[in-house]
Amino acid sequence: MKMLRKIFVGIILLGGVLFGLLIFVGQPKIEQSMNKVLAHAPYVIAPEVQILHDTLTIVDWHCDATLWARDLTKKSNYGHVDIPRLGQGNVAIQMFTAVTKSPKGQNYEKNTGDFDNITLLAVTQLWPPATWNSLTQRALFQAKKLDECAARVPDQFRVVTSQTELSRALSLRTKMKNKGETGLVIGMLGIEGLHALEGKLENIQVLYDAGYRMMGFHHFFDNRTGGSLHGLSRAGLTDFGRRAVKKLDELSVVIDLSHSSPAVVDDILELTSRPCVVSHTGVTSAHASPRNLSDEQMVKIAQKGGLIAMGYWEGAVGDISPRNIVRSIRHAMDLVGENHVSLGSDFDGSTTTSFDTSEISILTQEMVNAGFSKQEIAKVMGENAVNFLMAHLPN
Ligand SMILES: [Zn+2]
Repeated sequence: MKMLRKIFVGIILLGGVLFGLLIFVGQPKIEQSMNKVLAHAPYVIAPEVQILHDTLTIVDWHCDATLWARDLTKKSNYGHVDIPRLGQGNVAIQMFTAVTKSPKGQNYEKNTGDFDNITLLAVTQLWPPATWNSLTQRALFQAKKLDECAARVPDQFRVVTSQTELSRALSLRTKMKNKGETGLVIGMLGIEGLHALEGKLENIQVLYDAGYRMMGFHHFFDNRTGGSLHGLSRAGLTDFGRRAVKKLDELSVVIDLSHSSPAVVDDILELTSRPCVVSHTGVTSAHASPRNLSDEQMVKIAQKGGLIAMGYWEGAVGDISPRNIVRSIRHAMDLVGENHVSLGSDFDGSTTTSFDTSEISILTQEMVNAGFSKQEIAKVMGENAVNFLMAHLPN
């Protein structure tokens, strides 16, 4: 009997230790294998380029950092984005986009969305049980995580949800920088795929109340709003999707066209009264990839006042070197004009990049090398995005 009890206690202890190992050793290992930076010698930034870089207001439309177990208020030596590294890179505004479901064997061609990898991530990261099978709860939890970061380091980071809050945060940032301090980092919340609504239109309001101000209709699979760019149907908007567009317009939520089928993109452009953003993408004329929309659609998006935000990973640009990302930015500017190109890293989105956000000055350096004017650099790095947000966020 005693022996049996010992064996039983032993098994429980061993289970506990293995679970602990999975969480404390396994989580960083999992993320390290998903979000990589290519090994490289330190980038050399010319002193005059660094001076220029330090004057820029830099905006990144897309990163998935809230998905992972890292404390974003602390500087990590893996992954791509945290608040200290955003400060170091002189990034003013970072959009944090919540992923709530990601299919097994995720690819750019065809996904069913039957099996979901995020469930395992939610359980092993000890997210609240409510998030284990609710996509809406997963989004709410990620918003809460970001708000808690802001509460822990209020002097370094703030989440904004309106034009007024953004403009206040930007002027505080300028004051800090004028005093020679690291500028305040401003966070915003976005959603990657309206499956986060769990089929209920009223959940748009729930997500809005949690602070979400940009919503993309799709991720890697079709959902109730219509077809994904990587799903099975390639269908346009459903009636539910059309009602979602109306509701988002009513609330002044920015629509993100990334990952939606070309038919959905056309339908949204026809239906919405507001300009849209492609928060993380490449352009086909620079890199033909099933991840990128056609040049014709990009032109249409820009003509309606929208922004094309350039990504840094292979599916968007092919060769991920800073020089080639800048080549893609040039293609995009030639295609849609200098007022419609922005940055959308997809940092921490299970991507491999050639730099993390603390090293973003290498983009400024490569733009200078490629002969961009100061005005072009300022616009792409963030001015276009700030103008867009100050015009289209809720007041
Ligand atoms: Zn994405």
